[in-house]
Amino acid sequence: MKIRDILKTETPHISFEVFPPKTDAGFNGVMSATEQIAALHPSYISVTYGAGGGTSKNTVEIASRIRDDMGVTSLAHLTCVSSTKDTVHHVIDQLKEKGIENILALRGDIPKDTDFPLPDHYHYASELIEDIKTRGDFCIGAACYPEGHVESEYKKDDIRNLKHKVDCGVDFLTTQMFFDNNILYNFLYRIREKGITVPVIPGIMPVTNGKQMKRICELSGTILPERFRAILDRFGEDPQAMQQAGIAYATDQIIDLIANGINNVHIYSMNKPEVARAIMANLSEIVKG
Ligand code: FAD
Repeated sequence: MKIRDILKTETPHISFEVFPPKTDAGFNGVMSATEQIAALHPSYISVTYGAGGGTSKNTVEIASRIRDDMGVTSLAHLTCVSSTKDTVHHVIDQLKEKGIENILALRGDIPKDTDFPLPDHYHYASELIEDIKTRGDFCIGAACYPEGHVESEYKKDDIRNLKHKVDCGVDFLTTQMFFDNNILYNFLYRIREKGITVPVIPGIMPVTNGKQMKRICELSGTILPERFRAILDRFGEDPQAMQQAGIAYATDQIIDLIANGINNVHIYSMNKPEVARAIMANLSEIVKG
């Protein structure tokens, strides 16, 4: 099913994310985690491409098993900055052959110590989106950044670039994680004002590792609200307590989003079925599948 059709429904839906294993030895473990997440009946499961510690190698395979063996809609991420256009075209063709209808089209982070852009490579996700459109009837998602992308000095420039990207053929946007919903509401106001009208799916990260999260937020420029910082300071050294607090904080964010009329929320579940399960249990009367 195309995600743009799922997004037309007016009842709350939750989707989850998994990432491919670092090595082939980890493949079965990731598949087992994915099966457990699929059993929660999410609206779709996304599979990252070379992000979150996994490689890009198995993205197509995992996305096709989610669809064919688990009966859940899948969304395959695809980054373009570190591969030649020919390699990217090959992956798009593989996705088409496997019947995967949804692609999250991304530039990817610029590899260190390279001259950007390399010959025969893409500059920006917008160019990838134009190419995907010529190669099949895909539903295309893209990334957006409520706090602005790290490379953009001014949010207004980032929003102008986002408008161009959406106009190249984006069906929906998924946000970078954020820990203060007001940042998302302000972003939505600003992009709607600039004529970006496609559905925006907020991405929520249940934080289960305090130290890692502080580092990620420093790198990505994500703001940590006082309330969240207090949780990290108090529970960051105790993995079980941090997981419980992280799940509670994420649940609170999701309930506030749904209460404010946002029906589709994406959870960065990081191959952790226990976290996905706990969140779904917390939402059992709110999200009914
Ligand atoms: P773009 O949309 O191309 O934007 C990149 C930067 O260039 C922005 O600062 C933008 O303002 C600027 N820009 C865009 N167009 C122009 C233009 N025409 N002229 C000048 N400047 C321009 N990474 C992975 O490696 N694998 C994944 O699976 C993955 N999944 C992600 C999922 C989500 C929901 C998000 C939010 C991010 C994900 N990322 C992933 C990270 C992403 O690849 C990086 O954030 C990357 O640096 C930017 O990718 P993009 O597609 O947003 O780039």
